[in-house]
Amino acid sequence: MRRLRPGTGHLRAVDRELARRLDEALARPAAQQPSWPDPARVAEVLGHLDEVEPIVEPAETARLADRLAAVARGEAFLLQGGDCAETFAGNTEPHLRANLRVLARMAEVLAEGAGLPVVRIARMAGQYAKPRSHPVDALGLPVYRGDIVNSPEPTLAARTPDPRRMLQAHADASRAMHLVRAAGEVFVSHELLLLDYERAGLWADTGGPQPRLSSGLAHFLWIGERTRQLDGAHVAFAELLANPIGLKLGPSVTPELAVEYVERFDPHRTPGRLTLVSRMGHRLVRDVLPPIVEKVTASGHEVVWQCDPMHGNTYRSGNGYKTRHFDQVLDELAGFVEVHRELGTHPGGIHVEVTGEDVTECLGGSPAVAEPELPARYRTACDPRLNAGQSVQLARSVARLLADRRAAVPEGLR
Ligand code: PEP
Ligand code: MN
Repeated sequence: MRRLRPGTGHLRAVDRELARRLDEALARPAAQQPSWPDPARVAEVLGHLDEVEPIVEPAETARLADRLAAVARGEAFLLQGGDCAETFAGNTEPHLRANLRVLARMAEVLAEGAGLPVVRIARMAGQYAKPRSHPVDALGLPVYRGDIVNSPEPTLAARTPDPRRMLQAHADASRAMHLVRAAGEVFVSHELLLLDYERAGLWADTGGPQPRLSSGLAHFLWIGERTRQLDGAHVAFAELLANPIGLKLGPSVTPELAVEYVERFDPHRTPGRLTLVSRMGHRLVRDVLPPIVEKVTASGHEVVWQCDPMHGNTYRSGNGYKTRHFDQVLDELAGFVEVHRELGTHPGGIHVEVTGEDVTECLGGSPAVAEPELPARYRTACDPRLNAGQSVQLARSVARLLADRRAAVPEGLR
């Protein structure tokens, strides 16, 4: 692995070719990017990022690729979770440890239910950039795009994108990674969103059969529902990476489009290279997911099927909070498992927004959080998370769904 330094004029031939493909990818339209007010300052920050150490080791990323191949083959289960948006203020040892602890507990419960090893990926050590539905808020201010871009306070100064935040994001991610490594085998992930930052974290990986680019910023990156345009920069960028990739699929995705994605991201037919993350909403999952799974399965590509039961089930509570109800989250997961049971495919994993803290952001669970309690400890910087109790309860329920599924398969076929 060596750093790719486009623009230095001293690139080796393979690096030049990689840099050319990267430039081509980044020349495409990119949704959800901030408009930095001062290009000179951006260049200065990118210069600094060029000197920093990678956050993840290539050998760790390669190990995750092996683990995900096992998930794709039905031999392991994937648990991915953490904050919707990490914040600089929240990058504390107690918060990180609490989130790692709840993931570990969920993994234990799921392993027992599924009768399979559980691969753990945290939304951590870099989950600082957020896609938003509107570019400005109700006051006409630029919207908050995550701590890596701007600050949530409703003033123009706070909301003005500041590229120096990319340096803090990198430093904080690096610190968080030390704690993650102390927690056993946990991989880290974030949304592949802010392209100036992602580009600065690339390394040339010339160890494999083909020279490729590898992100040193996370083991696993995913493309969100709002940035998966087939002709856009995010898809073209992710295609170039050696890292395993996730792709969120909302209810408007057709089976034909799903196959197009699979062919783009998995041209070499590598089991587990692509994780398809369905986030259909509990009302639609049973209708929309089956033809997608059927068509992708028929294509012969071995993907990881993962369910994000959070993002299709967000609504505003009577008292004005963006929330999700435990029962609807669980219902989408039940639908996901049912669909795969009927088609004979592996419900490979879940992707959830959770915290180890006792927040009151999602409704339901037991003891239940009710609407009047939402304001008590509603602390998220973006979407509502399941608290520690709700998270473990959800894991128990999913474990039961997976155990039932095992019981439904005749002994000889297991
Ligand atoms: C997220 O995972 O926080 C997110 C924004 O998801 P989606 O792209 O599926 O809406
Ligand atoms: Mn979210």
